[in-house]
Amino acid sequence: MDRLHRRYEKPNMWEGKVTLRVIVKLNKVQQEARHCRCQPAGEGQFEVLDKFENRFVVNLNHYGCDCRVWENTGISCLHAAASISYIRGESVNYCDPFFSIRKYLDTYKEMIHPLPDLAVLKDDAPNEKVLPPNLKRLPSRPHKIRKREA
Ligand SMILES: [Zn+2]
Repeated sequence: MDRLHRRYEKPNMWEGKVTLRVIVKLNKVQQEARHCRCQPAGEGQFEVLDKFENRFVVNLNHYGCDCRVWENTGISCLHAAASISYIRGESVNYCDPFFSIRKYLDTYKEMIHPLPDLAVLKDDAPNEKVLPPNLKRLPSRPHKIRKREA
């Protein structure tokens, strides 16, 4: 109950569109993306060379990269981050909507209702015992009655 409440109250201090953890990841990816070289091809497509000279095709319009990290995690990979920096965009706008603060709040909006003290519940129903349910014979194959011959 306390954990759900704390997680529901936490986003009040956050600013922006996505959760704090995603912002930290995006900043880290943005730092690594500085080593990439980016060549625009038009219509949101880029050819990106990383520091090992591996070539990747990034399509910002379809939120995709050849490394498949962006499609699988919802957070832009370093190749996409380099492309986003090239067009002077913000990585936050290219994140999956699942990481938005609104979705976070939707996750923790339900609450666990508090319960009264157990002593109060016992006073309401004195001398009532909870009995186990009646036993029923479960359906099964009938036993075979054997006739033994002498
Ligand atoms: Zn990539």
